[in-house]
Amino acid sequence: MNTRKLVAALIITGLAVNIADADNSKETAPKWPAHIQVVLDTTKPLDFDRGDRLPLYLWAAMNPGPLDDKSAEELVRKLDQRGVGLISSWDPRDRQESLARSLTIAKAQKKLGLRVNINATGCLYSFFNGDERTAHIDDEGKPFWDDSFGKNNMGCPFALDFRRPFVREQVEFFVKAYKKADLDIDFIFVDWEIDGPIEFNKAQAASKRCRRCRQNIKNIDDFDEFQKVLRKLRSELQRRTYAEPVTLNFPHALVGNYGVYPHNGYRYWYDYFEYYVDGQPYQGDQHAKYRKWYHEFPETGYTFAMPVVYTWCRIFDWYDYADTDYRWFYNMLLVASNAGEHTPDEIPIISFVHWHTVGSRPSGGQAKQFSEGKYQELLWHMLLRGTDTFFLWCGRQEAVKEIQLVHQVYAEAQQYGRFLSRGTPINFNVGTQPGTVISGLKLGKRVLVRRTDFKKTEDLVEITIGDAKIKVAAALGRCQIISLQ
Ligand SMILES: [Zn+2]
Repeated sequence: MNTRKLVAALIITGLAVNIADADNSKETAPKWPAHIQVVLDTTKPLDFDRGDRLPLYLWAAMNPGPLDDKSAEELVRKLDQRGVGLISSWDPRDRQESLARSLTIAKAQKKLGLRVNINATGCLYSFFNGDERTAHIDDEGKPFWDDSFGKNNMGCPFALDFRRPFVREQVEFFVKAYKKADLDIDFIFVDWEIDGPIEFNKAQAASKRCRRCRQNIKNIDDFDEFQKVLRKLRSELQRRTYAEPVTLNFPHALVGNYGVYPHNGYRYWYDYFEYYVDGQPYQGDQHAKYRKWYHEFPETGYTFAMPVVYTWCRIFDWYDYADTDYRWFYNMLLVASNAGEHTPDEIPIISFVHWHTVGSRPSGGQAKQFSEGKYQELLWHMLLRGTDTFFLWCGRQEAVKEIQLVHQVYAEAQQYGRFLSRGTPINFNVGTQPGTVISGLKLGKRVLVRRTDFKKTEDLVEITIGDAKIKVAAALGRCQIISLQ
């Protein structure tokens, strides 16, 4: 072999090796960030078409990082095959980068005829930004904060007017960019919690110390009055700075916030930072105190309801049921049924859900985890009581199990698409004793029914739907379609 040939051979071999490496790396190097890959690996393509129904939303299926147009389309398509909607976050602290990334995904979603989904949480923070002008004022004219929320800058509900343009601009910056790019906003949510006026914890005591609050609230000692004034302010902040800028530009957008939904005047759950304070009105149930809640939803301008159906640890100690699964099931079904019963038909319900026990018990010790089977039954009953889709919140450690549980129910439910899209819930009852739970969606002369038994029985259970009566047989782990006579 002469030298020239040898060099040529080496080059060719070298190239061949490089090509082989490249092929190898294509197979082994992860194409998607780990949190996205988990979603793809944990779910499988749907067996039943989901039609135009809302996708399943997962906390993990958010922010896949920088993608080119082709990759964005590939990812959006892969997730859509699984019924999962990809969400982009807007970050006012990183405007250009987060806008560029989210526009790329929105373009792909529009091209594929899918919903554009946005997390705008970052844009709503913060009204209470630590500026002393937002603090309460005591009788000596000194500013002070309400530290009962585990944050050191919760201040005066009447000092936030000058913060509105700041927050609204953070929302409008992104909204206008979508408008300019001729893209849509179809689903937009925020997780806006510990900020702005909140009447719970020790807020009323702080306001009573504040001379500005006393001037603005006539009967400040009356909790109902206090609640009404604060919730009105809180609703208006959300409407003026977030809901309206979105819906003025995108009238069909679904816009909402964590925990804001129509209800019967009571809230059956507490957020992680909330606690009961003596004197606040409540409805008692075993050891639970369900707080009186203001009807804020209509004043926010929101177009979808977002209840929170979580396994909050405190639920475990609220009830005495020997079957501990029924403690979780009972409370969570109360929350879901409350939203289902009071939300108008045209308002979709997108419910936050979570399975692993959240938080720890004040008494110490472990709360017995809600069983997987009964949690999935709960999800079915939610769908049959007006929930349109789920939004799974969970940390990365919990993602695999959490996604499996909710995706399985979501995927199986799509076979009943017509019922889910057009059916009407037949009841919102929640039994105060563990027994037989029945939920259903009526469509024409047929009812899609789920029956779950907390006491073992094979007896037929008769229920009334309008003028008709139907007998529902035990059917473990499956739905039944029953004709109305
Ligand atoms: Zn004040």
